[in-house]
Amino acid sequence: MKKNQKLPSQDLLNKSFLADLHIHSKYSRACSKLMEIPFIAKIGKMKGLDLIGTGDFTHPLWYKELKEFLEYDPDSDLFIYKDLPEGPKFILTSEVSLIFSQNNKSNRRVHILIIAPDFETVEEINLYLSKLGNLLIDGRPTFGISCEKLTLDLLKISDKILIIPAHAWTPWYGVFGAFSGFDSLEEAFRDATPFIYAIETGLSSDPEMNWRISKLDHITLISCSDSHSPAKLGREATAFFYPLTYENIYNSIKTGNLAFTIEFYPEEGKYHYDGHRHCKVCLSPKETRSLGYKCPKCGKPLTIGVSHRIELFADREEGYIPENKPLSVHLVPFIEILAEVYNISKNSKTINKLYEQYISLVGTEFEILLKLDLKDLEKTFPEKLLEAIEKVRKGNVFVKPGYDGEYGVVKIFEPSEKEISTGLKQQSLFSL
Ligand SMILES: [Zn+2]
Ligand SMILES: [Zn+2]
Ligand SMILES: [Zn+2]
Repeated sequence: MKKNQKLPSQDLLNKSFLADLHIHSKYSRACSKLMEIPFIAKIGKMKGLDLIGTGDFTHPLWYKELKEFLEYDPDSDLFIYKDLPEGPKFILTSEVSLIFSQNNKSNRRVHILIIAPDFETVEEINLYLSKLGNLLIDGRPTFGISCEKLTLDLLKISDKILIIPAHAWTPWYGVFGAFSGFDSLEEAFRDATPFIYAIETGLSSDPEMNWRISKLDHITLISCSDSHSPAKLGREATAFFYPLTYENIYNSIKTGNLAFTIEFYPEEGKYHYDGHRHCKVCLSPKETRSLGYKCPKCGKPLTIGVSHRIELFADREEGYIPENKPLSVHLVPFIEILAEVYNISKNSKTINKLYEQYISLVGTEFEILLKLDLKDLEKTFPEKLLEAIEKVRKGNVFVKPGYDGEYGVVKIFEPSEKEISTGLKQQSLFSL
């Protein structure tokens, strides 16, 4: 798959800051013990993030750590990590899981991202939520209330709170998910719908896919990493125009005035296409339809992916690009570029050392991927690495879509048949 990607201009880069609003702490299930403020701040700085969501502010122990490590910055109404004041700023965020019945359908499951302006508001939110469920069990707690009730109740606490459906398309826990979601924001949020200004597109969909749905034209599309470990910080991110203040972030999300978003290739997700993993059958939504939703090998119903789900909602052709929408930029994380160029595992210690060396020599990950002139890197970077970065910038990479639980593959250099088969096996490393 090849395309000629448009990159943000130097002017756009200079006018904007990079934010990753959705992450988790060490108190969330299946999260790295390294997800602590000092380490998150250090890695965030190497990546080039200017703002990071704290995640998990509903968790009493994490909240205690936030109060300990973070200092309120009156100039921005945001927070600074005391020991790294020149590092990324922090904004108070959390994710909750709602499991409820609505319209005669039980087991609706929706994840919601909450952004709050200050500690006082967070304390009121936590007091409210503590009456609905146990906040200590998980950094991402579960409640049996509807999207509508949560939204209306939170807005009674403060109208400065932002409520954003997280990873909107994932089959489970996405507001539009095929298994437990809804067919529209109105159906999910009812009277609270006017207060939903944005959705998070998630790793398995990108703005291009969402632009095909005219009903979402007035909804801001944000991208976040949903990181469970420091290495994954900023794998997706949102660039806002300056100033870096809470009020400006709030208004930008409300009005959709974003500079650009950084995207993962959605094909890498394990439910991008349709198919059957055991039958090794991977199909596009069109192919699935022409086969009557039955597997051509075993005849059983096919597992339907995110791409197909979006197609059901879409009233525009693939490739439609609306006017006045923020640029959508697809990148491959620098550590994955290094892993492919040096042919070593992206989870090895060697690759981490290499990553830190390059960053300390030239600048942040996002400067390397987006900003720096490759000519200036010629002295420091080997030719193959420069070639790889150029390919990533242009979007000239090879993508094999994931399906039915099988991760997709993104390769910068043309893969051989053999590499594709081993690549597929290695994909368990791409944990989302
Ligand atoms: Zn989630
Ligand atoms: Zn999450
Ligand atoms: Zn089959």
